[in-house]
Amino acid sequence: DNSSTTTASHVFKSKLPDITISNNIPLHAYCFERLSEFADRPCIISGSTGKTYTYAETHLITRKIAAGLVRLGVKKGDVCMILLQNCPEFVFSFMAASMIGAVATTANPFYTAAEICKQFTLANAKLIITQSQYVDKLRDAPAAADDKKLPKMGEDFKVITVDDPPEDCLHFWSLLLKRNKKKTETIQDQSEEEEDDDDQLLDAIKISADDPVALPFSSGTTGLPKGVILTHKSLITSVAQQVDGENPNLHLTTQDVFLCVLPLFHIFSMNSVMLNSLRSGAAVLLMHKFEIGALLELVQKHRVSIAAVVPPLVLALAKNPKVAEYDLSSIRIVLSGAAPLGKELQDALRSRVPRAILGQGYGMTEAGPVISMSLSFAKQPFPPKLGSCGCVVRNAELKVIDPETGSSLGYNQPGEICIRGSQIMKGYLNDDKATAGTIDVEGWLHTGDIGYVDDDQEIFIVDRVKELIKFKGFQVPPAELESLLVSHPSIADAAVVPQKDDAAGEVPVAFVVRSNSGLTEEAVKEFIAKQVVFYKKLHKVYFVHAIPKSPSGKILRKDLRARLATASPLS
Ligand code: AMP
Repeated sequence: DNSSTTTASHVFKSKLPDITISNNIPLHAYCFERLSEFADRPCIISGSTGKTYTYAETHLITRKIAAGLVRLGVKKGDVCMILLQNCPEFVFSFMAASMIGAVATTANPFYTAAEICKQFTLANAKLIITQSQYVDKLRDAPAAADDKKLPKMGEDFKVITVDDPPEDCLHFWSLLLKRNKKKTETIQDQSEEEEDDDDQLLDAIKISADDPVALPFSSGTTGLPKGVILTHKSLITSVAQQVDGENPNLHLTTQDVFLCVLPLFHIFSMNSVMLNSLRSGAAVLLMHKFEIGALLELVQKHRVSIAAVVPPLVLALAKNPKVAEYDLSSIRIVLSGAAPLGKELQDALRSRVPRAILGQGYGMTEAGPVISMSLSFAKQPFPPKLGSCGCVVRNAELKVIDPETGSSLGYNQPGEICIRGSQIMKGYLNDDKATAGTIDVEGWLHTGDIGYVDDDQEIFIVDRVKELIKFKGFQVPPAELESLLVSHPSIADAAVVPQKDDAAGEVPVAFVVRSNSGLTEEAVKEFIAKQVVFYKKLHKVYFVHAIPKSPSGKILRKDLRARLATASPLS
């Protein structure tokens, strides 16, 4: 068979040897496996309140929340939406969901009512854990979507808030109390008898490694956002690929303080910051939103040793004059991911944190997400290479294929990156067609990214062939904006493509065929802006006579992207 021989001849592996991964246990058991070694070490530090939870406390609270969710009626397999900015309760909720075999679907709290409602409905969630400031949005969602069939708060789903709840919601911390007694009762007040009770509730739940645990949403290579099924096994494998073994790819210790400023609802932060830290005994320093002054204060105060960032944050660190006023000498690693990092920017940051190792991780939600990571973060590091996304993670295979013919390519030849291993998603939720379009019969996940592997096994991403637009690392699925655009009575057809942008990396711009010449660019922008989260807003609208399409009706996005690169995109 021709295809399997070509496949076999060009498979790239890590330069680090494979390891044994104990991925047949539930995720929480894996993360807390070494709990007794670091029980008294800090696990979670809230940047805004300064409150610290040790590993023992984090584990205990997680168990109590888990038991509380069971008492509330949450069952194995139920989907819970976590709609939170970074806060300790995010970590407790996520790990508690794992403990009871439930599935956490994480979403951006800045989403509009309609965006939340879409994800919530597709995920068939039963519960939302959120902040009280977002509750009105949830209550209004069905009306906003003008659809009486949509789930109704209180009737179809329950809402738990981590701060003082409105009348019709439950307080997160009341889950700790078996009988919902006094609001002020603390965990220390609970009797031994209740401990036993929690044990009984939790021990009765049997979780298999192939059960789903997380359901982030991603549009993948094409179309609308879809639920990405990540099992206990996928996430354990991904974390182990990064931090386990004698010579881990990302070497973390109990002395590390990991800055968590990227939103935990996105897989990069959820996996590479939160789960990696829990597994390794490092402290997670949570920031609920990015603000450069507050970030610098926290780095200095808590002696942050490792920071996960996205390119726009690298830009801020490299260029903001305030940076020079702070002592950042504690930082030993800066890990950038979620979008391409320019070489110039990487160089500019180096002068600000001369003692830190700078490198990248490259991933995709569907891949669990980490595909490759800089080998300069390893315990026995390889020298860093400018612009490289590191080497494919251990216990995985990577190949580069010709996007036209599908045949696999050798060193230094750019093509579509494909990845295979136990870490990748099980598939998209209720969408076999999209799953089959992404993971082929041999188990290779096709990323839609163009890159090459150099002579040292290092990966360089050079382009993206999928539709996806990335604004500061956030996903902007063109199909979503296109479907909103054509729902406008005066728009006959539309296509949305990325335009390069210095600050955001890319911004979405639209080509629109209008059926009414009175329709203005401002009106189109406004129409979209009120329906989407801030980073999906259109930055420019070009009115055209027709959208270029292939004979099969596919938008010729490449042509439109090429037009944007010229001085007059309209011609
Ligand atoms: P997401 O699923 O939101 O993590 O988006 C995944 C996509 O982000 C990838 O398929 C790439 O297109 C892009 N991406 C992530 N990390 C990098 C990186 N280090 N360099 C270039 N592109 C990246």
